[in-house]
Amino acid sequence: MSGQVEGLVAIVTGGASGIGAAIARRLHEEGAQVAVLDRDPSGADERFAAFTADVSDRASVDAAVAGVAERFGRIDIVINNAGIGAQGDVAANDDDEWARVLSINVTGIARVTSAALPWLRRSPAAAVCNTASIASTTGLPQRALYSASKGAVSALTRAMAADHLREGIRVNAVNPGTADTPWVGRLLDSAADPAAERAALNARQPHGRLVSADEVAGAVLYLVSPASGSTTGTFIEVDGGMAALR
Ligand code: NAD
Repeated sequence: MSGQVEGLVAIVTGGASGIGAAIARRLHEEGAQVAVLDRDPSGADERFAAFTADVSDRASVDAAVAGVAERFGRIDIVINNAGIGAQGDVAANDDDEWARVLSINVTGIARVTSAALPWLRRSPAAAVCNTASIASTTGLPQRALYSASKGAVSALTRAMAADHLREGIRVNAVNPGTADTPWVGRLLDSAADPAAERAALNARQPHGRLVSADEVAGAVLYLVSPASGSTTGTFIEVDGGMAALR
């Protein structure tokens, strides 16, 4: 039996760690050939083609996407997942930090998708999925810049869906809740008592535990597979029920 994305070629940005790595694995299990674009691809699964690219640098993105096309001869799926965090209220970060985070989390999506667009237009099954966040729709304390960036990811997802509807390119997004990835692991490790902090973080989630990266990957697989062929400009919340409680 063939997989849900059999024979398709997928780019996964930030695919060397966490949610991106889980998405890359899931797409590969379902028959896709996977290219990971990451500023540090050293952790990428060796079954994937790994390209060093910083999504905040257009030249490196263009070179990596051209490399994927040269290697596989097609690009069908783009997963815009690379992203970084930022802490604090609206006054906490200077202009350089605002520009850096927005360039990675938002403009990075524009750079990667633009480079892949000529290939997506030729695909019979073109799909883009962006990793947004519960921060897109929920007022999270001390996450002003990060929330602004993820809110922009939501708006960009809808705009891209509208622009490319008639070209047969679907664009959707996932909104993960706090997920158990190396990113969150690093935050926990910086606490005085990481185990106690992890227990407290689990307890703060609506369903009593962190979201798993594989759960996010399952939603992404659905959004880029033919099973969701009439779905575009939408979001799947993978947040343990947080959106339901708003
Ligand atoms: P992670 O730090 O474990 O992995 C992020 C990956 O992105 C790394 O491999 C890193 O090298 C890569 N990356 C970072 N900046 C890059 C750049 N400029 N160019 C190319 N690659 C870059 O993080 P994660 O927790 O897996 O997060 C992945 C995505 O999920 C992010 O967009 C994040 O905002 C989003 N998200 C995470 C959570 C969470 O709780 N972990 C919740 C909601 C949304």
